[in-house]
This record gives sequence, C-alpha cells and structure tokens, in this order.
Amino acid sequence: MYETRVLSGMRPTGSLHLGHYHGVLKNWARLQAEYPCLFFVADWHALTTDYAKPEAIVDNTIEMVLDWLAVGLDPSRCVIFQQSAIKAHAELYLLFGMITPVPWLERNPTYKEQREQIQDRDLSTYGFLGYPVLQAADILMYRADGVPVGIDQAPHVELTREIARRFNASYRPLFPEPETLLSEIPKILGTDGRKMSKSYNNAVYLTEPAGDVDRKLSRMVTDPRRARRTDPGDPNDCPAYQSFHKTYCTPDELAYQAEGCRSASIGCLECKQIMIKHVQAELEPIRARRAKLTPDDARRALAAGNAAAQAVAEATMADVRAAMGMG
Ligand code: SF4
Repeated sequence: MYETRVLSGMRPTGSLHLGHYHGVLKNWARLQAEYPCLFFVADWHALTTDYAKPEAIVDNTIEMVLDWLAVGLDPSRCVIFQQSAIKAHAELYLLFGMITPVPWLERNPTYKEQREQIQDRDLSTYGFLGYPVLQAADILMYRADGVPVGIDQAPHVELTREIARRFNASYRPLFPEPETLLSEIPKILGTDGRKMSKSYNNAVYLTEPAGDVDRKLSRMVTDPRRARRTDPGDPNDCPAYQSFHKTYCTPDELAYQAEGCRSASIGCLECKQIMIKHVQAELEPIRARRAKLTPDDARRALAAGNAAAQAVAEATMADVRAAMGMG
C-alpha cells in the first residue's frame, strides 16, 4: 500500500454513461484497491454552472452514487461523501480565496474556453471564476497527494499546487502539493461521433436495458463511404471503430474488421456486432448489481462516508485556523 491519499469528485449528473465509465470510474475502481481513496459528489460545483436549476441535484446525487456502487466502488474500501455535507469546504474555500490572486483564476484555460463556448448558461458569476479555489479546498482538505484527472483538468491541479505553496509559505507548511494521476483514457465517442454527453443525446448509459444498448450501437455513425454494403470503407474514418472497436475488440478481431471494412467483405452491422457483444458482456454485471441496489444503499454509503470525511476535515481546519492565528 502506498502512502498516497487519492481524492476525486464528480458533479451529480444523474445516470452515468460509458464515457464516465472509461474516463473516470474504471480508474477509481482500480485506485481503491491501491490507495486510500476519497470520492465525492461535487454538488456545490454543480451550482457554479447550473445555479439556476438546482432542483435535480438531490435526485441526481442518489442516481450517480448508485451507479458508482454498481461499477464496484465499495464503501468498505473507499470513502464516498457529499461535498455540501462537509461545511468545512466552504470555510477553507473562503480562506483560500483570501490568498488567491484573481489573475491566477482569469488565466485558467477552462474558464476562458467555457465562457466563450457555453452560451445557454450564465457564467459571469464570482462562483464560476472561483471554482478552482473550491476545488483546491476539496483536495487540500484531505491533504490528498494524488488527484486522478483527465488532461483537461491538469491546470486546476496546478492551481491547487500554487495555492498550497502560497499557504505553506505564508503561514505554516500544512499542505502537500498534490500530483496529477493521469491515466491512459480510451476515447469513447457518442453514437453520433461527437464527445459522449447527455446533452448531445448520444450517450450509452451504464444501466440501460441490453436491447437499447444494442439498438443505439447498431445505429452508431460509421465511415460515410460505406453507404452501401458493397462500398469499401476505411476504419480510420469510422467513429465506431476509432472509439468502441478499439476499446473493446481483441487485436485479431480488429484486424478482421479492418480488412473486412476495406474490402467490403463484411457489413457495418456484422462488424459492430463483434464489438457490441463485448460491450454487453461488460455492462451485464453492472446492470445486475444496479438492479439490486436501492436509494437507501446510496444514502447509507453517503452517511458513512460523510462521517469519515467530516472527521478528517475537522482536523485539517483546526490546523488551518491555528496556522492563520484564527483561534
Ligand atoms: S465496416 Fe466496421 S470499421 Fe468499417 S465503417 Fe463499418 S463499422 Fe466502421
């Protein structure tokens, strides 16, 4: 067992899809076997972009935690908690806000990108600008030294490191500078070839019935050159091949599919059925576990995790207040 303590969170988006599974959850399930881990529902973070629609957060939290349990996160091996249940996050966020220069936040690439790209929500708030400070509080509260993130989140962890350095230099060296734990993440596209996302209506969910998974993946976009069964195609131009086939099929199957595509000796449906069989085999045990879970299982996991997180947070805040001379 390593000394490293791992922390990661996810906004409560409700039911999770294969993009979440390959991008985050598989990694979490692996990490819980190797490190002490804390995984949290980032419900306050959801408000930084969706403050106008808070009503779904409670239901989405339960749905999401049930999916976490279904993929194998085990409350006896990791701490699963809810950010808003630990009020100390708000206190540490406030204190870090006092020492964080505004230009550090303004130069955050995600901030600039999302302000430009997201037009249907109000991102002109203080909360949206300051959310990396809240993220720093989430991470440093547990003195986590490993943060599993995708490459796009790496600048946020760098900002957390800067805030930790500034705090340590200004008061007392309390916080480790967390490392990003980047992992090889397979590319999972949505059925229309764009990034898999609930809002694009192109997602395959972890717990949807096998028939729906089959239907969605059978219709997934392929190389447009294969309009007819007799037209040859190129797997390099096929979103299904580049994401699902490469993630799920064996090397022999991939070679068969690529050759069959280029020579038009197989049709797209036959080609996809090879991949769909693997997807169903992966989803079947998840669906079976999920069917046995009830909302009370999620509530119990959160109650136990909140208590464990609370104890760590109280100890950290006692040290922080002492270091800052706040009594
Ligand atoms: S045959 Fe297979 S690889 Fe080729 S376009 Fe169809 S699904 Fe894609």
